[in-house]
Amino acid sequence: MPRPIEALVHTQALAGNLQRLRLAAGDARVWAVVKADAYGHGIERVYPALMGADGFALLDLAEAERVRALGWRGPVLLLEGVFEPRDLETCSRLRLWHTIHREEQIDWLAAHKTRDAHTVVLKLNSGMNRLGLQPRAFRQAWTRLDALAQVEAIVLATHFSDADGPRGIAHQMEVFAEATRDLPGERSVANSAALLRHGRADGGAAEAAAGADQVRSDWVRPGIAVYGSSPDHPEHTIAHWGLLPAMSLRARILATQSLAPGDTVGYGSRFTAREPLRIGVVACGYADGYPRGAPCSGLPGEPVTPVLVNGRRSRLLGRVSMDMLTVDLSGFSADEAGVGSEVTLWGRAGDGSVLAIDEVAQAAGTIGYELMCALARRVTVRCVD
Ligand SMILES: *Cc1c(COP(=O)(O)O)cnc(C)c1O
Repeated sequence: MPRPIEALVHTQALAGNLQRLRLAAGDARVWAVVKADAYGHGIERVYPALMGADGFALLDLAEAERVRALGWRGPVLLLEGVFEPRDLETCSRLRLWHTIHREEQIDWLAAHKTRDAHTVVLKLNSGMNRLGLQPRAFRQAWTRLDALAQVEAIVLATHFSDADGPRGIAHQMEVFAEATRDLPGERSVANSAALLRHGRADGGAAEAAAGADQVRSDWVRPGIAVYGSSPDHPEHTIAHWGLLPAMSLRARILATQSLAPGDTVGYGSRFTAREPLRIGVVACGYADGYPRGAPCSGLPGEPVTPVLVNGRRSRLLGRVSMDMLTVDLSGFSADEAGVGSEVTLWGRAGDGSVLAIDEVAQAAGTIGYELMCALARRVTVRCVD
C-alpha cells in the first residue's frame, strides 16, 4: 500500500471558480494564469476544467509547449516575455503572445524572421518596479513596435503591487492612464485581487476614481483565485468571494499516542501536555510540502494551526517533521478518531467540510500561493469532480 497521503485536484471547483471570475470580469476576456505548473496543481490536470478561459498565461516556454500539446489553439501569453532571441522562434512556432518589458526585447524582435506577425504585450512599470518600461520610455517603445512588420497587435499592460491591500491601485491606474493615453490597443491590468476588489461596477468610492471598467479593461489575469485561495485573506475569505478550494491535501493517522501531563511531543519537545490527552501521528511532513514553521506549541495565546480530523476541526501539536506531523485528538473518542482516520491538512475533507488553505498559510506566516506551489512531487495527485 502506498503511503497514506494524497492531494486531490477538484475539477468542478476550478471550473466554478473560473466561472465566478468571468462574472466579475464583465465583458473582459479572461487569462487563466497557469504559471508554476498551474500553481502546483499541474497544467495537464487543470486544463480540462479551465478550457473555458479565453487564454492561458504562464512564463516558462516548456509550459507553453505543454499547453499547445494539450490541443489549445487560443492565445497563450508569456508573462515575462522571451529570455533570449532564440525564444522568438518558439513564439513563432507556437503562436505565443509575449510580453515586452525592456527595450532589448524589441531589438530581438526587429531582427527576428517570421512569416506570421506576433501579438505582443507592452508592459508599463507603473510603480511596482519589477518588470516594465518606465512611463517616459513607454510611448517610444510603442512607436518602435508599431513600426515593425513582425508585430501584428500591441496590448498595453501593467501589474499592481497593492491590489490586495490598503494602498490599492488608484496611484498605479493613474500612471497607466497617463502613459497609455490616446494609444490604441487592448488593455490588461487586473490580477485576482484587482479584479475581485476593484473590478466591480458598484465598487467603493475610492475605486470610483480608478473606474471599474478600466480595471477590468479588455483582459484580466486571475491566478490565485482560480485555485480557490483568497487574494486578500484574512480581510476576505474564499467563502466571501464565492470560491472553492481546488486542491486538498489529505493523509491518514498512522498511530496514536496517549500522553500524561508533562509528556512532550516530537523534535525539540515543542508541545508539553498539561493534562492527559491523545494525539494522532499523521503521514504528512515537510517533505510533502507542509510548512515546517507552522505554530505547534499549543500554548494559550499562541497561534493555532488548524487541521480537519474526519472533517472536524482540530490542531497541530508538536513540531512538523520530514514525514510526519502530530495532531490533537482530545476532542475525539477512540471511535471517532484513530489509526486510519482521515486528516485534511487543507482543502475539502471527505465529508465536504472545508479548511481554506489561506487559514493554514496564515498560521504558518505565509500565503496560500506558497503552500500550493510547494506541494512535493512525492505526493500522489488525483483529479476528482
Ligand atoms: C502571477 C501573475 C498574475 C496572477 O496573479 P494572482 O495574484 O495569482 O491573481 C497576473 N499577472 C501577472 C503579470 C502575474 O505575474
